[in-house]
Amino acid sequence: MGLFAYLKDKFRKKDNSSDKETKLYDDGLKKQRNELSSKMNDLAKKAKKVNSSYFEQLEEILIEADVGVNLTLSLIEETIECAKKKKIDEPKLINELLIDALLKRYYDDSFDNHDITFRDDRCTVVLICGVNGVGKTTSIAKLGYRYQKQGKKVCFIAADTFRAAAVEQLEEFANRLNVPIVKGDNEEDPSSVIYRGLDYAISHGIDLALIDTSGRLHNKDYLMRELGKINRVIQKRIGTSADESFLVLDASTGQNGLEQAKSFLNTLPLTGLIVTKMDGTSKGGIILAINQEFHLPVRFIGLGEKMEDLTIFNLDKFLYSLLKEVE
Ligand code: GDP
Repeated sequence: MGLFAYLKDKFRKKDNSSDKETKLYDDGLKKQRNELSSKMNDLAKKAKKVNSSYFEQLEEILIEADVGVNLTLSLIEETIECAKKKKIDEPKLINELLIDALLKRYYDDSFDNHDITFRDDRCTVVLICGVNGVGKTTSIAKLGYRYQKQGKKVCFIAADTFRAAAVEQLEEFANRLNVPIVKGDNEEDPSSVIYRGLDYAISHGIDLALIDTSGRLHNKDYLMRELGKINRVIQKRIGTSADESFLVLDASTGQNGLEQAKSFLNTLPLTGLIVTKMDGTSKGGIILAINQEFHLPVRFIGLGEKMEDLTIFNLDKFLYSLLKEVE
C-alpha cells in the first residue's frame, strides 16, 4: 500500500465527526482542497496517456498551488523515475505516485510537531515576531485563549511600542480574555517594556508570557539590532533566550511573503513558525514550501478568525484534508 492509500485508510476508518480539530482542518482547507484536487482529477480524466506534457501540467498545478519551484521540480523528477521503474502510465496512478513522493518527503523530514512545553521553575516565555499585518497580535490572543482554557495563567507583553494601534489591539484582546497586559509608554524602548513585563510575570506567578514585537521591516539592520537587543534583555532577565520564538507567516501572501520573512531567520534563535490565514488562500502548497525554505517546524496553523481557530499543526490532518479528494 502506498503512503497516500495508507493515509486515506487511516482517516476513513476513524469516526472523525466528533473530532473538532479534524473539522477545523476540513473547513479551513476547503479552498485549497478544491483547487488542488479538482485540477489533479481533471487532468487525470482528460489525459489519454501520460507523456512529458502530462508532467508539465502537473508541474504547473503544483506551482500554482504555491508548492514552490524547487520542491515541485524535485517531486516531478521523483515521480517520473518511479513511474518508469514500476512501469506505471495510468494518469490516476501517476497522481498517486506524486502524492506518495510528497508524503514520503514530509514523513522523512523532522516535521513532527509538538505543543509548547511549560517550565515548572518559572514562567514560560514566548516571543512572537513577523512582518506587520501577518497576524501576530491575533495569534497572541489565540494562544492566550488556548492556554488559558487549559488552566494556565497568561500575560501579554506589548513590546510593539512603535504602533499605538498594535498596543491598543492587544489591550482589547487582553480585556476580552481578562488577561493582564504590560505595555510601554509612548515610544518606550521595546526591550525596557519586555524587562518590566518579565518582572511582572515572574513576580505574579504567570505560567505563560506572550511577547508581541514590532514588525517594521523598512530597515533590515535596524530590525536585526532591535531583535538582538530584545533577545539579550530576555537572556538577562530569565537566564536563557525565550523558551519559544515563533515567526508568524501569512499564508495568503504566497512566495513574496516568504522572501520578506527570511530577514528574521538569522536575527533570533527561532523555534518554529505560526502560519496564519490558511483559510483565506487557495494555495495550500505554501506550507510545504515553507518547510523546505525555512527548515523550521510549523508549530501552529491559523484556519480562521475565531479564537479557537489557531491550532497545533498536525501533518497527517493537514495532508489528508488537503489531498483527500484526489481520486
Ligand atoms: P499583526 O500586524 O501581525 O499584529 O496582524 P494582526 O494580528 O493585526 O492581523 C491582521 C489581520 O489578519 C486581522 O484582521 C486578523 O483578524 C487577520 N487574521 C489573523 N490570523 C488569521 C487567520 O488565521 N485567518 C483569517 N481569516 N484571518 C486572520
